[in-house]
Amino acid sequence: MPDNDRPDGRGRAALRADCGNCFALCCVALTLTRSADFGLDKAAGTPCRNLRDDFRCGIHTRLRTEGFPGCTVYDCFGAGQKVSQETFGGRDWRGAPETAQQMFQVFPVVRQLHELLWYLTEAATLAPARSLRGEIRRTLEATERLTRLEPAALADLDVAAHRGEVAVLLARAGELVRATVPGRKKRSHRGGDLIGARLKGADLRGADLRGAYLIAADLSGADLRLADLIGADFRDADLSGADLTGALFLTQAQVNAARGSGATRLPPSLGRPAHWAD
Ligand code: SF4
Repeated sequence: MPDNDRPDGRGRAALRADCGNCFALCCVALTLTRSADFGLDKAAGTPCRNLRDDFRCGIHTRLRTEGFPGCTVYDCFGAGQKVSQETFGGRDWRGAPETAQQMFQVFPVVRQLHELLWYLTEAATLAPARSLRGEIRRTLEATERLTRLEPAALADLDVAAHRGEVAVLLARAGELVRATVPGRKKRSHRGGDLIGARLKGADLRGADLRGAYLIAADLSGADLRLADLIGADFRDADLSGADLTGALFLTQAQVNAARGSGATRLPPSLGRPAHWAD
């Protein structure tokens, strides 16, 4: 998807992480739990021991081999630079420690709002959902306004309620798109337990996989065109040779969490992870 697809003309560029303009908020604000994804336990608000004084990761090029693959998967949707440079005006939590607590509180809120902006931006471009376009754009603008609230208002924001309203709208848009897939009634796997499922070569075109658990599923060679994949858990799923052209509401974090190959077909807005096989 082109980067000029947002009503405000800025495209999705503002929804992509710009770590050079962020005070490493994901490396401080969030809780890390020692697991296959993270090599240590860390409380929210505590800097990761691998974080350098210049807000860069000391093991950036070795994250996977050092036991931190989760860090290569995480995506803030541009919330890091928004909070660092706009919400807090470029004051960092080291130089202005009085801002730290609120900055770390606000970051996950703005991250959720930016994720919604990612989905809404896509929904606004979906031709089969053109009847919803006005509603989608108004919701997108309202969400954008929320991201620009003062820190105290952001900290008090009921982001779950807003997220719930947006989810209903996105589901309606997704249904309109999936209804264009000819030939059969679309099966729903919404929220389904498909952990480790053998779906090699499966015809999942136009499927409802919203929030489905596809952890370690074999989706190699599967047809996922126009499937609604919002919130689906692809950790360690095999997408080698799968076709995700036109898949709905897919994020870079979902793709990064999966395995794939040079033959995997992705929506144009998403990049091929460096760890995928050629
Ligand atoms: S390992 Fe690096 S990227 Fe991951 S939380 Fe720590 S400093 Fe950040």
